[in-house]
Amino acid sequence: MTKTDRLRQETLLTHLGRDPQAHYGTVNTPVYHASTLLKDTVEAFEEAGRNRLVKGKSSYGRGGTPTTFAFEDTVARLEGAYGAVAVSSGLQAIAVALMTFAKAGSHILVPDTIYFPGRRICEVLLRDRGVETTFYNPTIGAGIAALIRDNTVAIYMESPGSLTFEIQDVPAIVAEARAKGVITIIDNTWATPLFFRPLDHGVDISLHAATKYMVGHSDAMLGVIASTEEHYESLRRTGQFLGCNAAPDDLYLGLRGLRTLAVRLDRHQANARRLAEWLAQRPEVDRLLYPALPGDPGHTIWKRDFTGASGLFAMVLNPCARASVTAMIDGLDLFGIGASWGGYESLILLTDPRPIRTAAPWTDPGHVVRIHAGLEHCDDLIADLEAGFERLNATEETIAARAG
Ligand SMILES: *Cc1c(COP(=O)(O)O)cnc(C)c1O
Repeated sequence: MTKTDRLRQETLLTHLGRDPQAHYGTVNTPVYHASTLLKDTVEAFEEAGRNRLVKGKSSYGRGGTPTTFAFEDTVARLEGAYGAVAVSSGLQAIAVALMTFAKAGSHILVPDTIYFPGRRICEVLLRDRGVETTFYNPTIGAGIAALIRDNTVAIYMESPGSLTFEIQDVPAIVAEARAKGVITIIDNTWATPLFFRPLDHGVDISLHAATKYMVGHSDAMLGVIASTEEHYESLRRTGQFLGCNAAPDDLYLGLRGLRTLAVRLDRHQANARRLAEWLAQRPEVDRLLYPALPGDPGHTIWKRDFTGASGLFAMVLNPCARASVTAMIDGLDLFGIGASWGGYESLILLTDPRPIRTAAPWTDPGHVVRIHAGLEHCDDLIADLEAGFERLNATEETIAARAG
């Protein structure tokens, strides 16, 4: 046991992944730009090659530098994992994790609510290589047992689910997976290891789009896969075979973002909660999709397993014209329209889960609008949304007058 084993997450965020005396006294681990890593002797070069999958070792820039290992070690410790493998994006983290276990002739189970580009990996790349995917209802819980086949190698999870925020019963799914020797993988991007630690619940592998909250400033693409000791080497091997190295400046931005993750998440959470509660009272809103709200279908499990909720949620509007929603969204001053989330700024996006669901069809007639609550003052965000609803209602009235 090292002296940091007993420290809390906030303290780890401040102290992990840096070694000032190894770096001229600088507080932060510097950015190492490297391809070639020189060794003193032939023997030392060959030794480095033999050890290239050992944690913290590298024989070439692609295998990592002290900047890489600082980021990987920090995430691993936050997740309670043996090690972590940094890759160049969250999507690449999904691809590396799935490709490590899914081989020709095998079968994987994936929630219908998986981050959509991850779904394409299964439906196209893996299918073309002889891997069969069954998409399952994310709220299936222990019912997953009925879907596990003799050739099932992995159960993938993402909780809450992309766009519609269904919470999964991770312990129930893990229990069934373990009973049948099936590996479990989860996308933990929404919660971060501060609000959910999957490995504590028996999950083997927890991956992240570090692009989101870890980087936290919408200025880098980064992915990371944390795992138990059992799977670390095979994950790292896949990443190395495919050449999935993360870029040095992006790793630095990932580490930089982690330093403030706890304080940022506190504000994201508080703002999201207030916005969601305010939106839930609006006559234009049918319901909120946010597990932190009592009454949400996932609330009980969220409360049991998670220690917080981050800033991303959605609302389902009462049926209205598309032009009314776009009038609302297009005129907002403080909410950016764009993909991704987890940066310091607020975002809004009109989404449509209907065409991308097969196991749990989305049938709600209302528009689904996703909101990322940034770090702004919440009163300003509410005023902006309030003006947006006025535009929505005005457009509805114009359309009704024209029809009438
Ligand atoms: C954005 C996202 C990803 C992909 O991350 P990138 O770094 O953008 O490739 C994966 N999973 C979830 C849940 C995401 O929101």
